[in-house]
Amino acid sequence: MNTKPLPPGFLAASLDRIQPSPTIAVTQKARDLVAAGRDVIGLGAGEPDFDTPENIKEAAIAAIRRGETKYTAVEGIPELRAAIARKFKRENNLDYTPAQTFVAPGGKSVLYNALLATLNPGDEVIVPAPYWVSYPDIVRLAGATPVEVLTTLENGFRLTPEVLEAAITPKTKWLIFNQPSNPSGACYTRDQIRALTDVLLKHPHVWVLTDDMYEHLVYGGFKFHTVAEVEPNLFERTLTMNGVSKAYAMTGWRLGYCGAPEPLIKAMAKLQSQQATNASSITQWAAVEALDGPQDFIPGFQKIFEERRDLVVSMLNQADGIECPRPEGAFYVYPSVRKLLGRRTPSGKTIETDEDFVTALLEQEGVAVVHGAAFGLSPFFRASYATSTKKLEDACNRIQRFCGSLT
Ligand code: PLP
Repeated sequence: MNTKPLPPGFLAASLDRIQPSPTIAVTQKARDLVAAGRDVIGLGAGEPDFDTPENIKEAAIAAIRRGETKYTAVEGIPELRAAIARKFKRENNLDYTPAQTFVAPGGKSVLYNALLATLNPGDEVIVPAPYWVSYPDIVRLAGATPVEVLTTLENGFRLTPEVLEAAITPKTKWLIFNQPSNPSGACYTRDQIRALTDVLLKHPHVWVLTDDMYEHLVYGGFKFHTVAEVEPNLFERTLTMNGVSKAYAMTGWRLGYCGAPEPLIKAMAKLQSQQATNASSITQWAAVEALDGPQDFIPGFQKIFEERRDLVVSMLNQADGIECPRPEGAFYVYPSVRKLLGRRTPSGKTIETDEDFVTALLEQEGVAVVHGAAFGLSPFFRASYATSTKKLEDACNRIQRFCGSLT
């Protein structure tokens, strides 16, 4: 293997502004331990453990057979853009025309296009913490500044109007608003969104990028609302992002989409035309089926996730020193390890940070979770419950044993 280092200065300086995804790093570390023969349970994954529904797979196979295997329009095939406009009307009561929609290879790519197409050095983007790890790094890649604002466990990890108001400056270009939240699972009621949109109405230069990726993963009858639906006066400065990865168990297919004002869509298309060009033609046809086809399996997904959430929350709250709130959505919990800081492991290591906690947990009990610092809010960790009940029970028992072993 050629391991000769690259010449000095060969790599772009912009790479120094970002980090490899910490969630992917944890998954890799767990894989390495498994390869070395260790019995490891990974709760780091950000993807459903279900298979893509059969009708969606069939639509992709039919597309291949029809020869839908060529480049497509940069913004997406007309059939999918029309299906997206229908979805926004049906589920969110939003009136996007097909021309106000955009398709990219993954929600991450939508975000990337939107931020790279709009940000200049000096611009600020408000990112409530804990946040999905990619937001601040994409902002930094664009040369702009992420302004991280903290939420609290007491507030259910929700951004409050006061905190939002205090973070807005003349340089603020976007607020990134994600709910159900990765990593905390926090959701906002219509009134809680209204309190934030009231603040935004006072600041006409601030746009909202709302990441609704986990829209369908809400539990206990919680009703999801999106920003432009709650406050139609913000429609002209909102980008409503969504995708098929989580609700339709299609993470590997790579397809995200959004609705936004047409000039912004055109700017994003300009960028994508010199980048990925288009999302896979086959995936786009599968997504037409996902959005237009039967949605009746979604309650089944929700029921399974809800049962797992309740199991994990209950078992983690029985672990000595852990405080685990019960989130309304996504498939993550974000428990606090505050009471465990300062305690020592049987091998004599003091737990000073949430990173120390997750490292010692992985080494001692073989459970992989992600430290809160990676998501901008400590001392917490994120555990994904997108895995079987049996594995979750085993993992939670190990976490209880680990916490009990700390002195
Ligand atoms: N937004 C959030 C909050 C996510 O958690 C993810 C994936 O983990 C994405 C966007 C991106 O999803 P994808 O690029 O798979 O469509």
